[in-house]
Amino acid sequence: MNDKLKFNFYGGTGTVTGANFLVEAKGLKILFDCGVLQGEMIEDRTNRSPFPYIPTEIDYLFVSHAHLDHVGLIPKLVKDGFKGKIISTPPTKDLAEAVLIDSLGVLRKEAKTEDKPALYSEEDVDDVMKVWETFPYRQEIKLKDGLTITMRDSGHIIGSAMLEISHDGKKTLYTGDLGNSPSPLLNDTEIVEGLDYLVMESVYGDRNHASHKESKEALEDVIEDTVNSGGTLMVPAFSIEKTQEILFEIKEMMVQGRIPLVRVYLDSPLAIKVTDIYLKYVDYLNPAAQKIFSRTKDGEIFSFPQLVQTLATEESIAIKDYHHPKIIIAGSGMSMGGRILHHEKNYLPDPRSTLLLTGYQSVKTLGRLLQEGVKTVKIMGETVNVNARVVSLSGYSAHKGSDDLLNFVDASEDTLKKVFVVLGEPKSSLFLVQRIRDNLAIDAVAPAYREYHVLD
Ligand SMILES: [Zn+2]
Repeated sequence: MNDKLKFNFYGGTGTVTGANFLVEAKGLKILFDCGVLQGEMIEDRTNRSPFPYIPTEIDYLFVSHAHLDHVGLIPKLVKDGFKGKIISTPPTKDLAEAVLIDSLGVLRKEAKTEDKPALYSEEDVDDVMKVWETFPYRQEIKLKDGLTITMRDSGHIIGSAMLEISHDGKKTLYTGDLGNSPSPLLNDTEIVEGLDYLVMESVYGDRNHASHKESKEALEDVIEDTVNSGGTLMVPAFSIEKTQEILFEIKEMMVQGRIPLVRVYLDSPLAIKVTDIYLKYVDYLNPAAQKIFSRTKDGEIFSFPQLVQTLATEESIAIKDYHHPKIIIAGSGMSMGGRILHHEKNYLPDPRSTLLLTGYQSVKTLGRLLQEGVKTVKIMGETVNVNARVVSLSGYSAHKGSDDLLNFVDASEDTLKKVFVVLGEPKSSLFLVQRIRDNLAIDAVAPAYREYHVLD
């Protein structure tokens, strides 16, 4: 039997989204993540295409975290015959279920427009959950003699994990997404030393972020300016982590009297559900956040009197009838569908209003166009003039900036044989490859789609 480990790159190459990697070792086939491509259509790699491997032959799927670009194709994998086990941390399992169910609405709409069956159904999600097992961080999961996988805290969203393979004593780490530590809610990314091989993300491989402190001050200013001019602050929110982080900080600013006490709408059924999951797994938050949680009544770490959660569609529609300055947090984070589109249609033409972008905007998404300063956009078939201010705050990023990515690699400088740079736009990945080679003198490459490497 061939006892070398083969690492296959089936997604997340040349692009941020669509994470999908296959590890072959000791006769086992183990997938790492199974996500959708978002906002990008890359010829033969669209989400509907058959998988580039045989799903029935896969033994395990390890899931790094519950973002759609890491879990979105799992129901299709199961539908296509996957019979193995799915493994993640407990929060990731709960979040993935919420995320997959929430996507059904968009999928059905898309299917109707394209006159094709939806990518998956609610029953497929049920089947996924039946074979999903959970383990805590730092527990060695033995798959075969000489082959274990350990999940380590990546500090990106609650429950997010890096996947460390130990294969006959050699250590290979797949980072998933790496958090922008320190975060107000999460523990710092675990430092991993003594790695032989590293497969790492590179969303911000070519850039550093403003500090979290600067961005928090900027958020305070943006809220004040928008409220003072009588406008609406729109925050297209990523439902997991960013929404909870922003609620946590808005609450703090209100309690400390640093911003006006305006109404804040949390207009996202998914974000409302996810916030409940955060409250269920408080022990996965950092000690400071746990302390604040233990001091608040009824676990109101993310809520305050001015917060209005609009679960029903009618409640969401009624937001426009509230004519006072307000803050609206709504999905989706890249303005690709979701309730934010209605608010953008209403308030982008208003020069008193502000659109606040707090995270990565994928190529070709509406969010990216707005970030690049486009003055007219099409929203739900209508031409909309953009007179509102558009502000990007990089310190709220959930991903490490370039210097921090390099520091992460540096922890294993003495032992690393090669670094594989993935999950980034080409410009960003290649920049990081160059920095790793030049600054750390470690071999690094950005693999292409379907490339594989034998790690021995
Ligand atoms: Zn992520």
